[in-house]
Amino acid sequence: MRFDTNRTPLGVAVLGSTGSIGRSTLEVLRRQRDHFRVVALTGGRREEQLAEQVAEWRPAFAGLAAGNGGSRLPTGPAVLVEAATLPEVDIVVNAVVGAAGLDATIAALHAGKRVALANKETLVMAGDLVAHAACAGGGELVPVDSEHSAVLQCVTGRESALARLILTCSGGPFREWPAERVRNASVDEALRHPTWAMGNKITVDCATLANKALEVIEAHHLFGLPYDDLEVVIHPQSIVHAFVELCDGSIIAQLGFPSMELPILYALTHPARLPDAGVRRFDPVAAGPLTFEPVRHDVFRALSAGIAAGRSGGISPAVFNAANEEAVAAFLTGAIPFGRISEVIEGVLDSHLTAAATSLDIVREADRAARVHARKLLSRQ
Ligand code: NAD
Ligand code: MG
Repeated sequence: MRFDTNRTPLGVAVLGSTGSIGRSTLEVLRRQRDHFRVVALTGGRREEQLAEQVAEWRPAFAGLAAGNGGSRLPTGPAVLVEAATLPEVDIVVNAVVGAAGLDATIAALHAGKRVALANKETLVMAGDLVAHAACAGGGELVPVDSEHSAVLQCVTGRESALARLILTCSGGPFREWPAERVRNASVDEALRHPTWAMGNKITVDCATLANKALEVIEAHHLFGLPYDDLEVVIHPQSIVHAFVELCDGSIIAQLGFPSMELPILYALTHPARLPDAGVRRFDPVAAGPLTFEPVRHDVFRALSAGIAAGRSGGISPAVFNAANEEAVAAFLTGAIPFGRISEVIEGVLDSHLTAAATSLDIVREADRAARVHARKLLSRQ
């Protein structure tokens, strides 16, 4: 699906519309009503928030994907696939958090839709199968993640010259903390991200740097580069979103004040552009000095563990993702100290057997088994 102003308004399904990315998506769509109309909305559990969005947008379909009955709206995981595959839908914004978004991404790509993907866990778990679904169904995957949007904006039209990527990483709230203090950081401290306001799970991922491992694997699948050509640098100001090196050594970067609204709009319009008065205009002086530092791999071990899982391939990235989701959920309830998250990830990855990820059933089984193992480790303090 190419964005074509003669064909608009295009139909959009927003999965996870009540979350941080979902609400930013609706903010963007509110300014672009001539070009897009909201056809479907899904929330998780909370009906009131979704009901407010339904009252504003009057979508043809709305449902609660993590609900369990007792609502006037359709409930259960199947609402994601239903919303994603409606015939009136041209673009699916997948803003669900975690593995729950997998089936909808695959189904939408099989149905020939564009998937504007924020739900990076999906691509990490089953990158090859997602690519296969796009090929088979004629669908198209476009990243929403700011680093990957930056790369896409820099490489579009120059794909064959792409040589290396350097993804930037804010470093999270514990960037400068001594190792022992990081180990015992509280939930409140982990949720205080210095530059971005996001959902709780990804905010914790940014504090452990597991998020950057997910993003390196995501970049591998989106841009087809080997892991040796994917690098990470700490950039505390979050102004440069990625550096793209071309085969002659030229570096192209995309910059902007931290906001997800631009990457969301670009995922809807790529490779075209639409004017958007809502984006804060750039001011290099206000942005201040831009600094870059190496990653402290010894303190933030989830990053190396995740990249190693990516290199190992097969089901390993799905195992990494599942262990991380379980450990982060446990940390958020106060059950484990912050430092335990990366230990559980390493523990689960160290003892799993690798296998090729040739079917969704294999990936789902790897996800399930890794969660069982992670919970066992989590219960053993
Ligand atoms: P969030 O927690 O704010 O929102 C998640 C959404 O998913 C909510 O609508 C929630 O109701 C829904 N949801 C939760 N569990 C569900 C389930 N089991 N089934 C179906 N729906 C469920 O999270 P977010 O910050 O908006 O992040 C969403 C995704 O986007 C994540 O994969 C995250 O890594 C990615 N992402 C977020 C940002 C950001 O700035 N927030 C940036 C880049 C990527
Ligand atoms: Mg990102």
